[in-house]
Amino acid sequence: SLTDKLQNVFRNLRGKGRLTEEDVKLALKEVKMALLEADVSFKVVKQFISAVQERAVGEDVLNGLNPGQMVIKIVNEEMISLMGSETTEIKLQPTNEITVLMMCGLQGAGKTTTAAKIAGKLKLKGRKPLLVACDIYRPAAIDQLQINASKQEVDFFTLGSHADPVDIAKASIEEARKKGNNVVIIDTAGRLQIDDIMMQELVDIKNAVGVHQTLLVVDAMTGQEAVNVASEFNEKVGVDGIILSKMDGDSRGGAALSTKAVTGKPILYVGMGEKLSDLEQFYPDRMASRILGMGDVLSLIDKAVEANAERDAEKDREMAQKMKKGKIDFEMYLESMKAMRNMGGLSSIMGMLPGMGKISDDMLPDEKQLARIEAIVLSMTPEERKNPKLMSPQRKFRIAKGSGNDIADVNRFIKQFEQMQKMMKQMPGLMGDKRGFGKFG
Ligand code: GDP
Ligand code: MG
Repeated sequence: SLTDKLQNVFRNLRGKGRLTEEDVKLALKEVKMALLEADVSFKVVKQFISAVQERAVGEDVLNGLNPGQMVIKIVNEEMISLMGSETTEIKLQPTNEITVLMMCGLQGAGKTTTAAKIAGKLKLKGRKPLLVACDIYRPAAIDQLQINASKQEVDFFTLGSHADPVDIAKASIEEARKKGNNVVIIDTAGRLQIDDIMMQELVDIKNAVGVHQTLLVVDAMTGQEAVNVASEFNEKVGVDGIILSKMDGDSRGGAALSTKAVTGKPILYVGMGEKLSDLEQFYPDRMASRILGMGDVLSLIDKAVEANAERDAEKDREMAQKMKKGKIDFEMYLESMKAMRNMGGLSSIMGMLPGMGKISDDMLPDEKQLARIEAIVLSMTPEERKNPKLMSPQRKFRIAKGSGNDIADVNRFIKQFEQMQKMMKQMPGLMGDKRGFGKFG
């Protein structure tokens, strides 16, 4: 399975002390194969791999993790974002209005079962659902929905197999009004394959009763085909949310991974069995961790991320303390400049502070300058970095040579640094314990 394959790839990485770009490439090549075999669409795989690659090369390995775990972390995060990151709920109208939901999908996908499952969930939320049978082509389907409705103890409506589906749908709204139902769930007919007549019927129902949410049920076992089906339904009928049924089966995971990326529509639920209680909310993070099959590694990664955040916070506090006393050194200057760039510029940060309006972004180095500053600081001895007062003309000259800069560049940098230092001293209290001031604490 996909999970087994991915675990193998990561097991091979785990032994490594340090990852080279080549290691990452090789591992991702295997991840790519595993995803393709799991029936994830080629386009999605390509984008996914290049996103992971781009991040993996050049990202610092967090303390407490090895490079292999770092790759797992990135793969996991990219999988989550591929699946839409957030859990999406069915959008319902206020309780005093009738919300109309329409189920659609191919024959056997699980529409009738899922309609009843959803009715049960909404009932638990305090709604009063009405299940409506519009599949007139298979008389057994009407009975099936009726039986499910009574199992769920929710209301049921149909006009029978001789009525027109659009008429049934219209009449069901009247029925809901009379009986006080605030959710109408319309079960429709499917075909074995995409078929224009079926699509037209869905569009007709949708237009006739003003469906609020069109819910598409696709069979996860069919992999990439499920995603193609979803695209077609979305183009022809318009879909608001997708339910992946039969995820309890030997599904290859491909549908879960690519549906959102291909259709742009979120997965709302996953079907986990034939029983009417077997419907689960879709959580992209849980799904990713299930596909990766690495609960233990992922929780280790979480811990490392937390520990690193704590360490950063501690560093921030130290820096804030030093700055409070006007004790800024070159290394701190470099770090704060980087932090400020990440936070969207000096002016946007200073603008938030009282009395700091006159400072402009001119003081903020661009990427090129930042690299130059970094080179300059790296050419200083540890003592020089800590104690700016040591800076003599000889030292400046040595640093300029060592960093491949002109003496003028070094002087400009030191001048900027001194300006910053002055500024720090001029705002007592400001550098205090305020959080949310980036690296300043
Ligand atoms: P419809 O033709 O789209 O209405 O599909 P049905 O609701 O009649 O379901 C077809 C078959 O799939 C039935 O035997 C269901 O019990 C089964 N089924 C539906 N959802 C699931 C699921 O999540 N897991 C499993 N294992 N079976 C399901
Ligand atoms: Mg059905």
